[in-house]
Amino acid sequence: MEYKTTIGEGAKIYFLSDFEKPLLCIVSYLFIFRHRSDNITYMQCNEMIKYALVYYLIRGRINFENYNTNIIMDLFKPLDTKADEAELKPAEGESEKVKCLIIGSGPAGYTAAIYAARANLNPVLYEGLEPGGQLTTTTDVENYPGYPDGVTGPKMMEDFKKQAQRFGADCRFGIVTDVDFNGPVHKVIIDEKKVIEAESVIIATGATAKYLGLESEKKYMGSGVSACATCDGFFYKGKDVAVVGGGDTAAEEALYLSGLCNKVYLIVRKNYLRASKVMQERVFNTKNIEVLFERNAKELRGDGVVEEAVLIKRKGESDESEEMIEIDGFFLAIGHTPNSAPFNKYLDTDEVGYIKTTPGTSKTNVKGVFACGDVQDPVYRQAVTAAGSGCRAAIDAERYLGEK
Ligand code: NDP
Repeated sequence: MEYKTTIGEGAKIYFLSDFEKPLLCIVSYLFIFRHRSDNITYMQCNEMIKYALVYYLIRGRINFENYNTNIIMDLFKPLDTKADEAELKPAEGESEKVKCLIIGSGPAGYTAAIYAARANLNPVLYEGLEPGGQLTTTTDVENYPGYPDGVTGPKMMEDFKKQAQRFGADCRFGIVTDVDFNGPVHKVIIDEKKVIEAESVIIATGATAKYLGLESEKKYMGSGVSACATCDGFFYKGKDVAVVGGGDTAAEEALYLSGLCNKVYLIVRKNYLRASKVMQERVFNTKNIEVLFERNAKELRGDGVVEEAVLIKRKGESDESEEMIEIDGFFLAIGHTPNSAPFNKYLDTDEVGYIKTTPGTSKTNVKGVFACGDVQDPVYRQAVTAAGSGCRAAIDAERYLGEK
């Protein structure tokens, strides 16, 4: 199973004895079973190791005196801040000069890193809050070319990262907290301390799908709840699903799902759709889409997977009532927030916050600063389009540096 290597490589269990390692795996699999998840992200791996360590400690299986406690405590820090990696980097507070800085670690960021590394730009990539980006929260990816049998989102991002590192990309854990794009050299502050002076910057920080904020939404994430119909719709072939939202994305997702699913409910909180007229017409003319106006989702229920949604009809009105729909999938389409906040004092964005680029390129309004992936793409938002735009950004950066 994939998890074994992830646990081994990601969390470094080398300090355990041969007797202890299999026990660790058993505890880890119990964790996986408990969480009913097929995708284990790096952070979850770290959680597993912590569970296992606590378990061993309680059971007296590990005598911690026999081990270097620094190594064990290391597991309780975020991954990729291991001592051996830290040695390669400048001390905190120190300024570092780099040719090409890449911010963000989804398909766009890693692809930019592959191309930049192969062009000898010695890229340094900061992974951000969610290493691997949105794909690490998705289940199987079946529409990315080159994976004929599909691949899990976390595994795909692991592969992207390995490929970037193979060519020498320096991938680090850290979050951009501020930038100064005033001068010819761009200053980027990492974790409020370290200053990177970059000749070129590639922004690939992605976008975050909005969720309703229901407790049950989190509970069924990956088990019926999704924010991407194009990514996950296939798994609901012939089933009944619901899409929440009344904009173009919701209309588009409902139409896409109507071609796969038995029935699609479109849950709209107002008594009209915000989507463009042409999209509205298509929705209303599709037989297996039922638009439920003036409904708000209250709760999802089911035994391990989504089986039903409780809706509130005409919320806040005198005739407010509750109703239930039986569904297998619950798709959110209530908008995305582009992760452009640290940059938008300097970069032109649209009204939502998507970074504007010169059409056909990744160039922003600041020379030497490029944007790729979902942070500049409100329309397509696919792994493959993000990867393509990451390639474009690296080539644009390479040409910019060559012409300087
Ligand atoms: P929008 O902001 O246009 O629509 C969001 C929808 O979600 C609205 O109907 C809104 O309701 C609803 N919503 C927001 N929060 C909640 C909540 N908490 N509970 C219930 N409903 C909620 O986002 P989109 O992603 O649809 O579109 C973003 C932009 O991208 C738009 O400009 C759109 O036109 C564009 N786009 C274009 C496409 C194309 O040209 N093919 C495809 C997709 C998007 P309410 O109306 O009540 O505020």
